[in-house]
Amino acid sequence: MSKVGFRDRASAAIKSKEALATAAGAKRFTERRIQAAESFPAMEAARDEAQRIRLHTLANLDRYLEQFAQSATNAGNFVHWATDGEEANKIVLRIAEESESRLVVKSKSMVTEEIELNHTLEEAGIEVVETDLGEFIIQLAGETPSHIIAPVVHKTRKQIGELFAEKIGVDLTEDPEELNAAARFYLRTKFLEADLGISGVNFGVADTGSISLVTNEGNGRLTTTAPRVHIAVMGMERLVPTIRDLGVMLEVLARSATGQALTSYSTVITGPRQPDDADGPDELHIIIVDNGRSNVLGQSTAEILGCIRCGACLNVCPVYRESGGHAYGTTYSGPVGAVLVPSLLGLQDWGDLAQASSLCGACLEACPVRIDLPRMLIELRQRRVAQRLATPGLRRAIKTYAAAATRPTAFRVMMRAGGLAARFRPTTSGWMTSLPAMGKKWTSTRDFPSPETRTFHQRWKKSR
Ligand code: SF4
Repeated sequence: MSKVGFRDRASAAIKSKEALATAAGAKRFTERRIQAAESFPAMEAARDEAQRIRLHTLANLDRYLEQFAQSATNAGNFVHWATDGEEANKIVLRIAEESESRLVVKSKSMVTEEIELNHTLEEAGIEVVETDLGEFIIQLAGETPSHIIAPVVHKTRKQIGELFAEKIGVDLTEDPEELNAAARFYLRTKFLEADLGISGVNFGVADTGSISLVTNEGNGRLTTTAPRVHIAVMGMERLVPTIRDLGVMLEVLARSATGQALTSYSTVITGPRQPDDADGPDELHIIIVDNGRSNVLGQSTAEILGCIRCGACLNVCPVYRESGGHAYGTTYSGPVGAVLVPSLLGLQDWGDLAQASSLCGACLEACPVRIDLPRMLIELRQRRVAQRLATPGLRRAIKTYAAAATRPTAFRVMMRAGGLAARFRPTTSGWMTSLPAMGKKWTSTRDFPSPETRTFHQRWKKSR
């Protein structure tokens, strides 16, 4: 287990200003998603179709990866395979060196966050500029994103104004339009001077070898067309079989992420610049990254690879809303992170994230591809207990309960003791707010249902 676990990080985060900003942002996104779904009668059918496409793709991933690599190569791209983050970073560095690139512009990409690409490039003396407004702010602040689609959901306008004044020397303002204009002015020169553009990939299309990107700021298009070379880094699971399938995914993604009918800039790129094209890069490299994903394919949590990174599950999760994304201590937060990260990086260090859920089921209800997050959270918890990775207190409690529950006499004694305790400390609400001894920790954060004063057996006997 990591030295500082989720519980400690969350305890600190809950008291911060970030938590309030996160909760407000998550609420806004949820309201927009619900509105978008209600105004699109075919939403439920589209979700069913999107789920079918993702499950089918994962079940045939080897075949679709091969087809995608072949089609992308035929379209004039260079396709590279990386087994882990280190290898992916080395490939990027090699391309940067071969193309004599000194300035890189990046559009938003979670997989490059995952493999910490920026560090590698900066260590090699290459300047990297994030061009998504949220990512740009995060980079100036020296932080990591706290949300999959809204990296600065935890920041207030005041904080961003102060940051801009300090880091890029503009007049102090909280006005969103002025802040936007300042960022646009700063980034425009970077786009024009950049040698290399790096993007993620929202979806790769197997039969055409195309890659699809969605952004709301147009920075993705500038990143992928202005510099001489474009590198697209793609998690190996991000495929759909056909362009028609891509249409379905874009429909549910935009509505679930931001509540739009379609993201402002939905781009499909098939190959580098052609002789008659007015613009575009001379070279387009696609790096397909495994980094633990093929391992997850063999696990009972493989379904999580169907995730399309819309962020809806984060926005509805009561734990995420209270603690914010940084409490998860890793790139992916919220329910998707609580399943994906332990599956990718192991239960030993990250298993406690699976506890970061109330199992209320809101994430499953919100997920556009109907990923059964609660089922996988429970499975990870079970695995953690089976591998003896749960905290000693929890293990003791489960052991004690199991010993009593498998012995009828002991179980009866336990139930009677509970009944006596309830008579001794009656409650009007039906909930106990403080328990002694081992139960203290439980009631320090939530109430415990009061036991019945008479056991089932006692009532049964009486009724007969
Ligand atoms: S698990 Fe579902 S709801 Fe959560 S980010 Fe992925 S696609 Fe969206």
